Amino acid sequence: MAELVRMAHGSGGRLMHRLIEEIFLPRFGALPGGAGDDAAEVPTEAGRYAFTTDSFVVKPLFFPGGDIGRLAVCGTVNDLAAKGASAEYLSAAFVLEEGLPIETLSRVADSMAAAAREAGVRIVTGDTKVVERGAADELFIATSGIGRIADNVNVSGANARPGDVVIVSGTIAEHGAAVMNARHGLGLGGTELRSDCAPLSQLVLAALAATPGVHALRDPTRGGVATALVEIARQSSVRIVIEEHAVPLRLPVRRACELLGIDPLYVASEGRMLAVVPQTQKDAFLSALRSHPLGCEAAEIGRVEAGSAGVVLHTTIGGLRPLIMLEGDPLPRIC
Ligand code: MG
Repeated sequence: MAELVRMAHGSGGRLMHRLIEEIFLPRFGALPGGAGDDAAEVPTEAGRYAFTTDSFVVKPLFFPGGDIGRLAVCGTVNDLAAKGASAEYLSAAFVLEEGLPIETLSRVADSMAAAAREAGVRIVTGDTKVVERGAADELFIATSGIGRIADNVNVSGANARPGDVVIVSGTIAEHGAAVMNARHGLGLGGTELRSDCAPLSQLVLAALAATPGVHALRDPTRGGVATALVEIARQSSVRIVIEEHAVPLRLPVRRACELLGIDPLYVASEGRMLAVVPQTQKDAFLSALRSHPLGCEAAEIGRVEAGSAGVVLHTTIGGLRPLIMLEGDPLPRIC
């Protein structure tokens, strides 16, 4: 029987990686050294630039802590930041369903403009298409972005080395928990369950200025911290060990994940960055993160070792559990 696209192909997990490896990379190729990162480094005569693109189909359009417009700006800004680049210019393409209130589109555009100001980036080009009622769900947005990479920065998921330290810039899983709570009207967590959606360019640039020798950065969006770390472990052919007790997690988020039956390590953040840093730069990197409001809860959560490529969780009860890429799609249309 012919294979069909399933929801899990959009999860950011194992099936999405299969699409990239079997459909896209063999046909499109990759620039040297860049396959698997959040953005491509494009060499130009004017310097080093990072280029990235993303599409957004989150449901509902508005949720505590954000909306599809803020997400569309932050997602692309953060993928540039994960390549060590400061976002400069974005494009925005809209697919609108016939019947969408113009007022809804205005609110989303207001939110995009505000997020762009916050991130110090300009939205300079775009496109609008409309499809018949039922051919799309209200509103989809695709954003692309370009930003310059400083000469002394070289971050890639392929650069993790044994002896490095794994750091996360703050509490995890808040975006996914907040969207699921809003979508299903679960009424969990009161006002505490809010998306962490935020532009990380200034946080990351400040930290890179303090410690330009950072090896790898990745924003743990779809697939969560676990999937992002498996990607890095595979790209670098290293073993990553994570200490479960050290991973920062707010109580309402933990409770929401327990009720939904989902491991918070697989739930998306939209305003957090994972970093793999040489041991010698760990303290400077952590203090640079912690001196910024978006990084004040940054924590060391694990280490990189030699060994077969993969991620192992040292659990709070003392066991060792291998972490694999997200299977299936427990949280569809989360971003
Ligand atoms: Mg990313």
